[in-house]
Order: sequence, then structure tokens, then C-alpha cells
Amino acid sequence: MLAVVKDFSRKGVSLQEVPRPEFSPYEVLIRVKAVGICGSDGRMFNEVTPGRKKIIIGHELSGEVVDFGEKVHSLRKGDRAATSICIGCAICRYCRKGYFNLCDKLEEVGVTIDGGMAEYVSVPARNVHRIPEHVSFEEATLADPLACSIRGLEMVSIQKDSWVCVLGPGTIGLLAVQIAKRVLRARVVVTGTREDRLSLAQQFGADHVVNVNQDDPVKFILDKTDGGADFVFEATGSEKALEDAFFSTKRNGSIVAMTVHKQVQINMEPVIRNELKVFGSICYNYKEFDQALDLIAKKKVDLALFTQHTFPLQQYEKAFAFVMSRQGVKAILKP
Ligand SMILES: [Zn+2]
Ligand SMILES: [Zn+2]
Repeated sequence: MLAVVKDFSRKGVSLQEVPRPEFSPYEVLIRVKAVGICGSDGRMFNEVTPGRKKIIIGHELSGEVVDFGEKVHSLRKGDRAATSICIGCAICRYCRKGYFNLCDKLEEVGVTIDGGMAEYVSVPARNVHRIPEHVSFEEATLADPLACSIRGLEMVSIQKDSWVCVLGPGTIGLLAVQIAKRVLRARVVVTGTREDRLSLAQQFGADHVVNVNQDDPVKFILDKTDGGADFVFEATGSEKALEDAFFSTKRNGSIVAMTVHKQVQINMEPVIRNELKVFGSICYNYKEFDQALDLIAKKKVDLALFTQHTFPLQQYEKAFAFVMSRQGVKAILKP
């Protein structure tokens, strides 16, 4: 079968002919129908880590069940399925509490083990989620980033009319805006650097948007939210944005950091003086993935703009160039 393989000894990825994956008694073989290119795939594209094992990338995937191991009883051939990314060991103290995303021995589909930018993929049956009726394969690929947004939003208790600030209108940020507005009925401010993304945020219901290259985002947020947002979601990966988050939150408010910051130098004074609560949120678990599919099925999120750019698997180079040049919101490969 054809697969997009990442060889970590050099930059880039390549399309290769590889054997069809095997599957254990507890695994499911899926014929991939659609697989999204995530920002993290873009970062892996450029990654060089000598010694790291080669993998087929792709974790935002959906397809049809074609076969499964003898211990799988909950699925049938032909079932339409999407797959969640985190494979916990099920026995460490975190898995025991349901925090598979924090597992001691975490494996991730398309990150540490073979994923879905291929004609077929095999995953544990527990990571297979049935796609509801009337949800397309393309829409189902968005369950992954949507589940990330849901987990971040559920770290705190957003009420109707809470002031929510989303820093960074990328895929996860824009999906968070939609949930905050349409499901939680909060009031939303979005900050970013790109006018096209900010106008999408407005289209999805944001009450106020600000371009940080033109205006001081902290001043803007304090002004619009009557002295500070209740909840600030940092989804940019920028050090400056994380610091802005601390200065834009009201006293006793909460910040959820949704992108990975490594070494940062930040003024922590507001965290202490204003008794802020800072949460980290990484990935998601089965529950949020099912919630995401449910929101998609109930049309609570508008995914039209996220599913419009599709490419055949063979045109993976064009699709990656499209994503990395930040033209559309999202690109989806169709094996
Ligand atoms: Zn992703
Ligand atoms: Zn574990």
C-alpha cells in the first residue's frame, strides 16, 4: 500500500510502497478515507531527530473497518470509524484514573506509531469511534482537533456570558471560539496576527477581535471585558501571548495553556498578585472525542471551511505546501 513516511534522519516526508499493516487480536484494520494534516504534522515534516524510528504519520483520520482481530466484538466490517490518538498502557496510575493522555508509556497514532496517511491503518479497538450518520469522513477528521478544544474548555467552568479570550485563531482556537459561543453561550474576544483568520473568528461569532500587530491586545481585552477576561485560552505557542494571557485575565480568573511552551521568560507577577489559576491541557481522551463527534453530528460547529480543501494522497507534497504556506484553514488527504 502507499503511505506517507517520515524518516527522522532527514527533513521532509516521502510517499512509499509499504506492506499493509498487520493487526493483533485486539486491533482493527481500517481502510483510510480521509486524513487531516495537523500543525504538528507540519512540525514533524521539518523535524530531524537521528535515531528516532521511522513512522507513517497522520492522526486525524477516518475510514471504513475492513477487518479486526478475534477479540474485537463491538464492530462490523463496513462500519464507518474515526480514531482517537492516545493509546494508554491501561495499567499505570494515570490510565487507571482515565487519564490515558498522561500515560507513563503513552503511544500516539501517527506520532509514535504508524498512523493514517496511508491506504490502511491498524489501531486498538478501544481507539475506534463509530462515525454518526450524516457526518462525512472529512468532517470526522476534525473530531481530533475539536476534542483538543473541548478538553481545554472543560478545564474551567465557563458560564453563559462569561468573558472568554482565545489567543490564536488556528484550527484549535477557531473551534474553541465556536464551542464557547454556540454551545456555552459565552462572550468571546480573539487575538491574532492574520486578518483572514480574525475575520473567520468573527464569522464564527467572536464578539471582538484584535490584530496584535496593530493594537495592544492586553489593553484591548481589559477594555472590552470590563477589566479582564474570566478565562483566557492560549493557543498560539508564542511566549508573548502567554505573558499577555497573564495580564488579560481578571483577578482570580483562569488561563488554559493549550500549546507546548518549552523555555519561556515570563513576568509571573499577575499570577501571584491576582491569584490566577493556570492550567495545562494536552490532547484528549475517549470522552472528549465522542463529545466532538456528537457536536459535529448535531451541527453545533460549522466545519465547511475546514473540509473544503482535499487532495489525493499522491499529492501529499502539494497538500503540505498548502498547509505550511497557511493558505487555507486545513487540508485533508484522501487515500
Ligand atoms: Zn492534530
Ligand atoms: Zn498508562
